[in-house]
Amino acid sequence: MSSLKKTLYGRCHIIKNWSDWDYSIHCDKSQIDRQGRAMTYPFTFKVNEHTKTARFSSTSSLPYYDTTLSSCTCADFEERKLPCKHIYRLAVELDILEIVRRPSFNREKLEYVRNSPDIDNEPDQIKRQKSGMSSKCKPIEIDYENETALFSGSSKSPYITTPTTCTCRDFFVRRLPCKHIYRLKYELNNYNS
Ligand SMILES: [Zn+2]
Ligand SMILES: [Zn+2]
Repeated sequence: MSSLKKTLYGRCHIIKNWSDWDYSIHCDKSQIDRQGRAMTYPFTFKVNEHTKTARFSSTSSLPYYDTTLSSCTCADFEERKLPCKHIYRLAVELDILEIVRRPSFNREKLEYVRNSPDIDNEPDQIKRQKSGMSSKCKPIEIDYENETALFSGSSKSPYITTPTTCTCRDFFVRRLPCKHIYRLKYELNNYNS
């Protein structure tokens, strides 16, 4: 387990030395998104293990993208000059790295937050308090007497929130206060004072 931690950058578990990039760039949020897409995007590709290159199908006017471990002909790479989803996938296919599950759903990390003496001050919880206060996270309806609220979300039916539970996916997965719970508590406090 300790050796895994040393080689984990973003969602990249580096197996073989990948000297084309400074490992720290794989920890950026925008890179972590690409690491996820490398595994879920429905592209087709052909890897040449000998030259360590690949040709990926494209959905743009270009018929394909040519990818190496340090470059790609796709627009994303041309613009950012940082690993795109094709480069990450090539690295996976060449057994240079492994894309691990989303770190926010990492069980060990969740256990750590759950056991914290001050859960609301854990960085992952502070993030949820902030997004709970954004204008996008506005309750549709608050029942002050019963301390419940309805929030609109990505699914069709609204989320039903109480100070300790919520029907959103974040709460379902983490069993820790989500942004809706934080927002409801804030609204209830404001109402009572
Ligand atoms: Zn690319
Ligand atoms: Zn929620």
